[in-house]
Amino acid sequence: MTSGQPPAQKRPLVIGIDLGTTNSLAAIRAGRGARVLRDQHAQALIPSVCCWLPDGSTIVGAEAKALRLQHPDRTVFSIKRLIGRSGQEVQAEAAQLPYRVEIADRGLPRVRIGDRTFSPEEISALILRQVKATAEQALGQSVQQAVITVPAWFDDAQRHATKDAATLAGLDCLRIVNEPTAAALAYGIDGSKDGTALVYDLGGGTFDVSILRIEAGVFRVLATAGDTHLGGDDFDQLLGERILAALRGRTGAVDASNPYVLQAIRGAAEGLKIRLSEADTASLQLDLGEHGHADVTVTRAEFEAAIAPLVERTIACVQRAVRDAGLQLTGLDDIVLVGGSTRVPLVRRRLHELTGKAPHTGVDPDLAVALGAAIQADVLAGNDRSLLLLDVIPLSLGLLTFGGAVQKLILRNSTIPTSVTEEFSTAVDNQTAVELTVYQGERELAQDNRRLGSFHLRGIPPMPAGLPRIAVTFLVDADGVLRVTAREKRTGVEAAIVIVPSFGLTRDEVRQMMLDSIEHAQADYLAREAIDLRNKATAMVTGTRKAMALAELPPDQTYAVHKAVKALDKLLAANADPAALKAGCEELTRVTATIADDVISSAVAKALRTETGGPAT
Ligand code: ADP
Ligand code: MG
Repeated sequence: MTSGQPPAQKRPLVIGIDLGTTNSLAAIRAGRGARVLRDQHAQALIPSVCCWLPDGSTIVGAEAKALRLQHPDRTVFSIKRLIGRSGQEVQAEAAQLPYRVEIADRGLPRVRIGDRTFSPEEISALILRQVKATAEQALGQSVQQAVITVPAWFDDAQRHATKDAATLAGLDCLRIVNEPTAAALAYGIDGSKDGTALVYDLGGGTFDVSILRIEAGVFRVLATAGDTHLGGDDFDQLLGERILAALRGRTGAVDASNPYVLQAIRGAAEGLKIRLSEADTASLQLDLGEHGHADVTVTRAEFEAAIAPLVERTIACVQRAVRDAGLQLTGLDDIVLVGGSTRVPLVRRRLHELTGKAPHTGVDPDLAVALGAAIQADVLAGNDRSLLLLDVIPLSLGLLTFGGAVQKLILRNSTIPTSVTEEFSTAVDNQTAVELTVYQGERELAQDNRRLGSFHLRGIPPMPAGLPRIAVTFLVDADGVLRVTAREKRTGVEAAIVIVPSFGLTRDEVRQMMLDSIEHAQADYLAREAIDLRNKATAMVTGTRKAMALAELPPDQTYAVHKAVKALDKLLAANADPAALKAGCEELTRVTATIADDVISSAVAKALRTETGGPAT
């Protein structure tokens, strides 16, 4: 069972990916924090835009974004709005997009580019491929595994579709993680302290607010709110109108339907906006060639006045989310900023006023999600054992088995919700009831773990040990509530218990239990081995006796087997140490090995038939 040290192996790299509506990027764990992976121009953000040129070539990222207005029907952006949704669901959305979305087989949307169509998964995969390539170039090695983030409100279909996109991009998506949880993690909210956090995410075209509760290392999303059509693009739009007005005033004729003009204005507006996050005034000299040129100056006050109604809309969402979470605006522990548009000072100021707490500013808001994803990725890669995983159950859950060991059904760090079913049986003949005792913790022995509760499954018809088939299901729902169900499959008798695992357990206890399990790993392993050995020896004694009662063997063989059985039985009764038990088992194995397998099996089968009065299947 034990083996020598495996050769030191380099762990595979797992990157964290923020697959955004507007921009995507990757990051990797570095030291205590994480760092984003940049391309050769030191750019981390990859615009989530794909362009199919008329010559058939595909461009992804910044260059595709630049082509957006020149090839409006060939440039796909905001694909995240369509992924994992039905054609019917996205109809209204698609009507506002400049590219064509058709409803194909099974009612699923596809994007039409010329004579070809693409699923949202395929397009997301192109973006992921670009992110993967950038990461590989930055790291100088290939990357196969990733953690990918999605909005907290993404449903199962959207999460699955995102995973499928990863597969198409040649990435193994180890886990889908909620964006607000990842962001909180990037800000150092690592679950080691209980509390609440407000995550305010204002990106390019979407706004999400999430209220998180962090308890015993588990992040729970208490409430979400937002606006799927509100973001920095709207700020650009407002500034763009100002620029256009200024141009009209000075040059007279500006063709606002000309895509090149619009592209220039849109780009200029975004540039102005970004400078206004730092400076009180910003101006630009716009050269539109034959369409004219002009200087435009905008003050921050003017900009803030223009966007104030939009910012107030986000504030209303924040108020609603906090209310839905059953919390007070001024009672939140952390205010976390996410998304490029939270660099706008007005946004920060309003949040501060509203919550009475200064938002965290230690992390670049447009990088936070990817950085948090990278930290999660590292935990999943098995490199960080000090950090508790998120949106997951903090401690393993299992059942007491024969002899005092715990069989874990749900392992620590499984994402919630989760469900596992395993089959058990009885240990003693004619047992009509079993007691199921549920334990929480990492240790091998029940006595070292925390007992959560127990219940009985009764009404099992008398059968030889090992024949009843008791399916035990552990189900932890999204709120962390555990429900254990036991069902005897032949008769259908069933019993269940509901437990809240984290109830009453402080995060210090959780941490201690984890540390203990690491510290005692060796001792636990040995204790577990001893129990397993006892169980094995007991089964061998019973099994061989049954077989011998039925098998017809030459007397000398019978004698040798009986002698070995008796010796092993004695060792069991005397609570012998594992080494002696092991020797006893080996001896019994040796003497029974001379008995033909078919004798044993036919004898056992016959025994089972006689005892149950029916075919033993
Ligand atoms: P998403 O999550 O939607 O993919 P991001 O978080 O990358 O988007 O945010 C993109 C938005 O952030 C764009 O509208 C961009 O103009 C805006 N943005 C980036 N930097 C700044 C800044 N310094 N000031 C104001 N807005 C900014
Ligand atoms: Mg984002």
